[in-house]
Amino acid sequence: MRQYSERPRSCQPARPGKVYGAWRAAALRLLARVVGSLPAQPCVLCLDPADGPAGFCAACALDLPWASAACGRCAMPLPAGATGCGSCSLRMPSYQAAFAAFDYSFPVDQLVRRLKYHGHLAHSRNLGALLAQAGGGRSAGIDGWVPVPLHREREARRGYNQALEIARELAARTDRPLLDGLLWRARATRTQAGLGAIERRANVQGAFRADPRVKGLSIGLVDDVLTTGSTADAAARALQAAGARRVEVWVVARVSGRSGRARDRRTPPGRSNGRG
Ligand SMILES: [Zn+2]
Ligand SMILES: [Zn+2]
Repeated sequence: MRQYSERPRSCQPARPGKVYGAWRAAALRLLARVVGSLPAQPCVLCLDPADGPAGFCAACALDLPWASAACGRCAMPLPAGATGCGSCSLRMPSYQAAFAAFDYSFPVDQLVRRLKYHGHLAHSRNLGALLAQAGGGRSAGIDGWVPVPLHREREARRGYNQALEIARELAARTDRPLLDGLLWRARATRTQAGLGAIERRANVQGAFRADPRVKGLSIGLVDDVLTTGSTADAAARALQAAGARRVEVWVVARVSGRSGRARDRRTPPGRSNGRG
């Protein structure tokens, strides 16, 4: 399968912000590669030698909040002995499956926020590598990775899309191609941070469009965090409307009731994970 480049937007004039953003992303990516290739890297968390996977020492990697038994459809943790998923019984997502490597709690929440808001692009490699490792053989059912897109103006401001950076790492580690540019935002939306579940759904409803080249494919839809699932749900609907055969959501971390409480303690007001 061929690797698609950024969707051409010839109808839109190049803006200085976009040009700056592209340079910033390229510079940050290069820096992350250079740092990642240096010998004897310290652990991302404790600065001991990173003798474990993906930039962590073995002890820190073991201590990460790995996701426990979860619903295969929405990735919400299931209590021991549960026969069904309470979340899916309330509202079945449009995507056919979801997988999260971690619960969205310390220190993964901190790493995601550094990646997302502070330009620590190296964390897309750390977290993407662990996501690929946790997913194991599941990726065999995926035809290609599609990142949840940011609106072009937000991406230009930030300089990169963290979901795209994680998807790059998944593509590099799973032998499944990156299908960038096949899903995009048709309109800008408010940030999902601070919105309730119903507002989040309304905010992103119909916000995405997908290229017909996804027709017949099993898509791995990649994002950093799954909160209510409304962003992934709207993105999956667009992919399905364009003919995707199956959409499986892959995220670094899942916000559950437990991690939500933990997040609220650690997150300053007005700053949440920002996606839905
Ligand atoms: Zn460590
Ligand atoms: Zn579920």
